[in-house]
Amino acid sequence: MDARVSTTGRRIMGRLPKGQDLLESLTAICVREQITLGEVRAIGAVTKARLGFYDQERQVYEYLDFDQPLEIVTLMGNISLKDGRPFVHAHVTLADHQGRCFGGHLVEGAPVFACEFVVKEYRSETAFARGLDIPTGLALWPSA
Ligand code: ZN
Repeated sequence: MDARVSTTGRRIMGRLPKGQDLLESLTAICVREQITLGEVRAIGAVTKARLGFYDQERQVYEYLDFDQPLEIVTLMGNISLKDGRPFVHAHVTLADHQGRCFGGHLVEGAPVFACEFVVKEYRSETAFARGLDIPTGLALWPSA
């Protein structure tokens, strides 16, 4: 395990514009505010969604498409660097009109209906940068 000490920086709270892509909008805020380490939370609704599920054996993402309005019950994620840019890694739980929930890895393809978010910035002397992790095939933080 590789854990590093960080201190809390700014907190940014706001609302995403209707029709914008959920993940792209959160990433754009981090790029604009130059947040390279932190966490993100959000609630709201999307008009449709696409979620990823990582096939651990084949080491590829499979995608589930939901072509219907859904509530964002929870969105939680972290912010770090990937290829030198702020990268948001978020997972969501989404509920349909009957309260049935679906969840997974957030990818592009979820237009915002309404969304309220909180971004917490952390400051660390060493960067959290993602790189290819051979055993999993994922872009992960380094481990000791
Ligand atoms: Zn994920």
